[in-house]
Amino acid sequence: MSKRIDVTDLDVYYSDFLAVEGVNIEIEPRTVTALIGPSGCGKSTFLRTLNRMHEVIPGAHVKGSVELDGEDLYAPGIDPVLVRRQVGMVFQRANPFPTMSIRENVLAGVKLNGGRLARSDEDAIVEKSLRGANLWEEVKDRLDKPGMSLSGGQQQRLCIARTVAVAPDVILMDEPCSALDPISTLAVEDLIHELKTEYTIVIVTHNMQQASRVSDKTAFFNIAGAGKPGKLIEYADTT
Ligand code: ADP
Ligand code: ADP
Repeated sequence: MSKRIDVTDLDVYYSDFLAVEGVNIEIEPRTVTALIGPSGCGKSTFLRTLNRMHEVIPGAHVKGSVELDGEDLYAPGIDPVLVRRQVGMVFQRANPFPTMSIRENVLAGVKLNGGRLARSDEDAIVEKSLRGANLWEEVKDRLDKPGMSLSGGQQQRLCIARTVAVAPDVILMDEPCSALDPISTLAVEDLIHELKTEYTIVIVTHNMQQASRVSDKTAFFNIAGAGKPGKLIEYADTT
C-alpha cells in the first residue's frame, strides 16, 4: 500500500559534519519524486534517511522526523529492519547475490525478514514479483540459473523484483539507471511508471531528462560550497 512521506526539519550528520540541513517535504502516495542537484549536495544522504539506511555508516545520525502516513520512522523502539521492509531500496549498481539463483534472489529479502515459506507460496511470490518487475517472460524458463547470468538491465529489474517481493509501501532508488545502457534504461523507466500505481517512489538521478520522463515532482537540492550543508531548494511539479 502506497504511503505518504512527511519529512520535518531534517538535518543529517556524519559525526560532526552537517551534510544536509533543514529539509521539509511532503511526498504524496502513488507519485514519483526525482531528487536532482549537483554532486555532493546530499541527495543520496537524504534518500538513505528515508529508510534509516544511513545508519549502516558509523557516526551518521539525524535530527528532525520522517513519517510514513503519520508514523515516525525514528520513534524510540522502532526496529530499522522493519523500516527497511516498509521502505525498500534499489541501488545504483545492480547487486544480485552472487551465489544465488534468480529465484533465490527474488526470495532473499522475504526469507531474511519472514523466515520459512511453503514452496507454493514461494512460487507465487517469485512469479508475482518478476511479473511486477517486467522480467517474468524473460526468465521464467531459467529461474534456477544464477542471478549474475542476466544482463545488467535484467539484473537491475531482478533487484527491483527482490524489493517488490517484500511488499513495501515505498521504493527508494539511488541512480538506478546510471550503470545501464539506453535500452535497459528505458525498460527500467517504463517499470517505474507502472510501479507508481502501487508504491510511493523516490529516485535520485543525475539526469534531468530522466527526471522529466519518470517523475511527477522534482526536489531540487543545492549546496553553497564545499564543507557547507546541502539543502532542499524547491519541490515542484516536474516540467
Ligand atoms: P556516487 O556519487 O556514485 O553515489 P559518492 O562518491 O557520492 O558516489 O559516494 C560513494 C560512497 O562513498 C557512498 O557510500 C558515500 O556514502 C561514501 N562517501 C562519500 N563521501 C564520503 C566522505 N567524505 N567520507 C566518507 N565516505 C564518503
Ligand atoms: P550526492 O548524493 O548529492 O552526490 P552525498 O549524499 O553523497 O551527495 O554527499 C553529501 C555530503 O556528505 C558530501 O559532502 C559527502 O562528501 C558527504 N558524505 C557522504 N557520505 C559520507 C560518509 N559516509 N561519511 C562522511 N561524509 C559523507
